[in-house]
Amino acid sequence: MYYELKLVMESEQHRQKLIVHKFGGSCLADKEAFAKTLSIMKKFQDKPTIAVLSAFKGVTDQLLKLIELAIEDIGAAEAFCAKLEAFHVDMAKQMISNEEASRDALDFVNARFNKLYTAIRDIFKGGMPPHMQDYVVSFGERLSTYLFACFLKGEGMNAEFFSGDSLITTTADFGNAMPIMDKTRVKVMLELVPALQEGKLAIVTGYYAECDDHLVTTLGRGGSDFTATILANALVEYYDPEVLFWKDVDGLLTANPKVEPAATLIQEISYDEAKELAYFGSKVLHPICLRMAMERDIPVQIRNFNKDLDARFTAISKYKKKTGEIVKSISSVDTCTMITLQGAAMVSLPGIAARLFAIMAREKINIIFISQASSENNITFVVNAQEGMAAVKSLKESKFFGKQWFDILHEDMSLIAVVGHGMAYHTGVSGKIFTALGDAGVNVRAIAQGSSELNISILVEPKDLKQAIHAIHEKFITKLI
Ligand code: ASP
Ligand code: MG
Repeated sequence: MYYELKLVMESEQHRQKLIVHKFGGSCLADKEAFAKTLSIMKKFQDKPTIAVLSAFKGVTDQLLKLIELAIEDIGAAEAFCAKLEAFHVDMAKQMISNEEASRDALDFVNARFNKLYTAIRDIFKGGMPPHMQDYVVSFGERLSTYLFACFLKGEGMNAEFFSGDSLITTTADFGNAMPIMDKTRVKVMLELVPALQEGKLAIVTGYYAECDDHLVTTLGRGGSDFTATILANALVEYYDPEVLFWKDVDGLLTANPKVEPAATLIQEISYDEAKELAYFGSKVLHPICLRMAMERDIPVQIRNFNKDLDARFTAISKYKKKTGEIVKSISSVDTCTMITLQGAAMVSLPGIAARLFAIMAREKINIIFISQASSENNITFVVNAQEGMAAVKSLKESKFFGKQWFDILHEDMSLIAVVGHGMAYHTGVSGKIFTALGDAGVNVRAIAQGSSELNISILVEPKDLKQAIHAIHEKFITKLI
């Protein structure tokens, strides 16, 4: 037992640190941004390095538009494609000054666009099989990443381009594929590890991969972040990876600064807390990326690309118990729709919640909050404001709930999520929260607490949102700083 542990510890120690950078479209916007990206890569160049890239800003949306055009009008699609090509040619010429690297990049752009023209003609003639969309949108990352690799080579860096499909295998769920990690690990071992061991900088396309049939798949919008954590996860046998997301925000904050002026940067947060924040409001990092990192204990950082390299940032890792800290962050959804289903018929009648949720599932409406009083007289749930009316309509029109013995009420609300591991270790936290809200004159309309005690969700009227956040922030966060 002791020896086993010792062996594990020794092999852990031997794993060399590796950095996975993720650069989004705004890190590749212009000459200055390219230079900044290069300086970031150089700063960490003593360690094995991977950079995962998104498409140039707006290009994925344009490729989706290209598909729409190709279905209807091939002439318009070709004209649109020509503009996209001109944009990429222009980027290659502007960003890459080294002659050989520039020629390489221009050849690549030319060859990729030939394929893209063929693809849109195929769509026009033969329609759109589901995998075609993923194939076409993958060109955004192919182009940006290849150009960036050429740029780095032109600057004398030992860079090598990798296409995401050669490293990651996914399910065949086009548009939203999920990685198959054992297959991915084999590819990463055969393709990526040798290059890293030779001291190469691996420059990898984000967002797309392939399924077992070797068709291109994509990992969902914003999926380049996911690519970065998938690769890190697949590399843990060989390296001790850390993922650095270069974004246009400082990191995760204690509250929305537009609502709470005292909001500050969170410098350390656990995976679970960060995931909780991601579900509510904060769009900084998708929870699925955090899950990938958390599974293998891979530290993650969110850093601001536009700031100095030494600027403060958010580090996400395993939870470390701290004294004193109870609430980590307060996130909020400004407006959402609260729907209450009530009626004496519901008391002790099994299957009501199941029927309700089945209807929402059928309508593809996402439920973000649920609460039921133990009297069972009503169920309250919350959906995004855009889906509110559709949710009410589907209930009113349903055979079961449409009957007169149910009242279906709806109202605009604001949802506040108070997040922090510390809440699980302290008694009386919710009491203190509600006292703070009461003292601030805020009327709480409904509450729910996850059983992990990581999150208390509170519904208040939109007019009270600012006050409510301020009261909680003041009591639990500002006072500690
Ligand atoms: N380019 C893709 C998108 O816009 C993926 C990404 O940017 O992460 O969704
Ligand atoms: Mg993007």
